[in-house]
Amino acid sequence: MNIIHTEQFQHEGKNYEIRLYGSGWDFTVEAYLDSKRANGYSYSVSLPTAIDLQRVHGLDSIKLLVEHAKRDIANKVWEKYVEAYVACLKKTPEQSLGCRKCSTRDILVSTVDQRKMYECKKCGNVWYETRTVTGGFLPIIDDITEGVEGNGFHEIDTSILLNTVFRQHDKGLSFNDQLRNWASQNKLKYEVFSRGKNQILKFWR
Ligand SMILES: [Zn+2]
Repeated sequence: MNIIHTEQFQHEGKNYEIRLYGSGWDFTVEAYLDSKRANGYSYSVSLPTAIDLQRVHGLDSIKLLVEHAKRDIANKVWEKYVEAYVACLKKTPEQSLGCRKCSTRDILVSTVDQRKMYECKKCGNVWYETRTVTGGFLPIIDDITEGVEGNGFHEIDTSILLNTVFRQHDKGLSFNDQLRNWASQNKLKYEVFSRGKNQILKFWR
């Protein structure tokens, strides 16, 4: 789904962004705070194909979804009903883990690039703990893992990694060895190809 429209919404001194996503005649509204989802709610509608898509974001049926998103933030619906419920379940963090693809709780936890990585033992789904602090070369490698998660693949100029994340003199390992180890830890596949004068690395899982 592509972002079709965004609008700002202030509540209790925080700046939320309400995003409208669309694909064909299917639309979803979600609230964001600091570029991250503000809560787990999505508001969706599938409109009749007779509707002119050029005019869609002015429609009352779409505005209603945006109003619902704002109302739930203002009323703290997520905090009241979901976070409060999770808090009373008294599960350890490990017991709370679950694969969103296949619903199993059989999850392998490891630490990769200074954050936890979760791998579903049943379907192979991989996801990561959200970073609270970042720095150094972490944003470069996070772009790769997030790109793979969001788009199914990520491409990056090989020279960027050669001069930053996998500099040879840092770890006494060659660029190719560091790249292979890193990709293997993150369960990523990769290939190198040329585009014009540049060598491009493509990652996927
Ligand atoms: Zn799974």
